[in-house]
Amino acid sequence: MQKRKISIIGSTGSIGTQALEVIDKLRDKFEIIALAGGHNIELLKQQAEKFKPHYTCLGEEGLEKICSDKENDIILVACSGKIGLKPTLTAIKNGIDIALANKETLVMAGDIVMCEAKKYGVNIIPVDSEHCAIHQCIKNISQVDKLIITASGGPFLHKTVDDMKNATVEQALAHPRWNMGKKITVDSATLMNKGLEVIEAHHLFGFDYNDIEVVVHPQSIVHSAIEYKDGSVVAQLGLPSMHIPIQYAITYPERYEGIKSKSFSFADIARLDFEKPDFEKFPTVKLAYKMGKLGGTATVCMNAANEEAVFAFLDGKIKLYDIYSITKKMCNEHQIIKNPTIDEIFEVDKDIRKQVKNLLNSK
Ligand code: MG
Repeated sequence: MQKRKISIIGSTGSIGTQALEVIDKLRDKFEIIALAGGHNIELLKQQAEKFKPHYTCLGEEGLEKICSDKENDIILVACSGKIGLKPTLTAIKNGIDIALANKETLVMAGDIVMCEAKKYGVNIIPVDSEHCAIHQCIKNISQVDKLIITASGGPFLHKTVDDMKNATVEQALAHPRWNMGKKITVDSATLMNKGLEVIEAHHLFGFDYNDIEVVVHPQSIVHSAIEYKDGSVVAQLGLPSMHIPIQYAITYPERYEGIKSKSFSFADIARLDFEKPDFEKFPTVKLAYKMGKLGGTATVCMNAANEEAVFAFLDGKIKLYDIYSITKKMCNEHQIIKNPTIDEIFEVDKDIRKQVKNLLNSK
């Protein structure tokens, strides 16, 4: 069998390094065209020595080159933030399949990205465990009535609102199930991450927001589910390891043993719990639904405001709950552009970030 030619954008990040662990187990299945790292030049060097990509690049420069390199069969977009958006669109225009781990791509420009993917016949395979689960469950999408996205609930699930209000950065970063980057871990503590995932699911699978449900499932074993018209529910289960969805996305539609370390056992897990999310304690999810339904640049505004506020929280400048109040304020004041161009999306993003910084400085 021919090797699959792959490039990784964000190879030195959390998803990127785990993707290379997967590829290390499947050396005969992949040829690496390019690795692009963010800041960690030492790690990128080590990766280059070990995996022998055709070339590497550091920072934003070079991403366009990688994404217009038709040698690639698939590109794993695993960088964080908005720098993933333009290169992803370039790859799509070049007919290269995308394994998508970058949230901003769909939250900021889901309409454009999905429309282009359809136009160029490109597959977008989600890496995020929830969307990856739904991707695995769906056989005939026209027969599906509802998407059910699971949420672990994060470190404050059974804590009080006061506990959350007084949360330290350390407490917010202590995620009970998943080991991830800092920004996404704070988003998981406020449940904004789930809100962003609802928006992504809407774009990826073309479902109305009213047909996407969030359920809290603390064990993170059921990664998400779908309900068919006839009432049948199909879920995807597995141990909470990002290796599994990463491997699925980059090897799709094939499946290999690869990274699998042990066999799944229901008896070992013993119980699976589910509960309704507490929207009073975690108002971010409702905000995300609201902005998603409004469409256009509403989600661009929410994403930018939230991210800047998360950075301010990580810097110790604001409290955990301020992330929500700042984001909500920006969303309420935002003049939505319907059907924005990519340039308009970036302008709104920049403008909102500036506004949040001004707001923080005036405090
Ligand atoms: Mg997720």
